[in-house]
Amino acid sequence: MNNENIILQEDGLAMGAPSSSIIFELFLQYLEQTKLPHIAQKLKLVNYFCYVDDILIIFDSQHTDINTIANEFNTLHPKIQFTEETEKLNKINYLDITIHRKHTRVNISIFRKPTYTDTLIPYTSNHPVQNKHAAIRFLYNRLNSYQLLREEYQHEENIIHNILHNNGFLIQKQNRKQKHSQSQSTQPPKPKKWCTFTYIGKETSFITKIFKHADLQIAYHTSNTLRKHLSYSTTQQDKFIKSGIYKLTCPNCNKAYIGQTGRNFYPRYDEHKRAFRYSILQSKFAKHLIEHGHTFGNIESTMEVLHFHKKGTPLNTIERFYIHKEAMNNNHLNKEYTETTNKIFNTILERLQ
Ligand SMILES: [Zn+2]
Repeated sequence: MNNENIILQEDGLAMGAPSSSIIFELFLQYLEQTKLPHIAQKLKLVNYFCYVDDILIIFDSQHTDINTIANEFNTLHPKIQFTEETEKLNKINYLDITIHRKHTRVNISIFRKPTYTDTLIPYTSNHPVQNKHAAIRFLYNRLNSYQLLREEYQHEENIIHNILHNNGFLIQKQNRKQKHSQSQSTQPPKPKKWCTFTYIGKETSFITKIFKHADLQIAYHTSNTLRKHLSYSTTQQDKFIKSGIYKLTCPNCNKAYIGQTGRNFYPRYDEHKRAFRYSILQSKFAKHLIEHGHTFGNIESTMEVLHFHKKGTPLNTIERFYIHKEAMNNNHLNKEYTETTNKIFNTILERLQ
């Protein structure tokens, strides 16, 4: 649909549709099985490798040449046009490797596109450690899965170390092969149940560690997505028009009041200020200022947003956590009964120090 007109796709596959990749694969396999054998025979091709839409062909230049091959391939289907590339200085890039043809053998090295940036999830980023390690594991798995010559191996290892260094990771010499053999087990793996947690920081890992000996596989997702950052760009400019947990700090003695709001922070701030102005003692914060003769600051200096969250039970728990934290520092203005002993909170706070 476009401007209320229905557009009919006459050929090709819908971009992004889950079915497209399967139909595409069926179509290519069909071509490969029915038409390719004839071309291969006719041109006496030595070998043929294909991955999705990337094809590597080894041919004998006494029997054919690259233009003849390209012309033959372009007769496969009127809608498919192949472009060709030949080796330069005995080298050609295919997928993520560079193949270097020598007199008696072939050398392989890791190929990165010139546009490649060495950006991983930085070490300091608020992401699950498992996600960060996945990218590193990929680099090392690739290093170890190709049969690289010693100097190629060392060259690639140096590149990986640079990538890790540039993203703030500590570099540890790893004995990957040994680790691999240890992980092989003769026991068949038990089917495991998966559960997902929203990763908000180190606190999440402390909680999931409790499930270490349960038959549960933990997966994380973050709410820190690009979509979230891009689609609400206006709210990024003003933190006070969201809802969540806030902290009001007395400018004179630094005592703090923790509160929550399911609306945005501005009316909440106004309520506390009105309570101060009209001596309404329902606000614990206003009560403190009035009783001690302390002053009410502006929103920027008084109100700190501790945690963005929509209204609901989790908001109550997060609020209790922050009250607990202030109470541990003996700095809170909240009602006494809102602060209770809580082993989980204590553990989290200990680990955060
Ligand atoms: Zn005060």
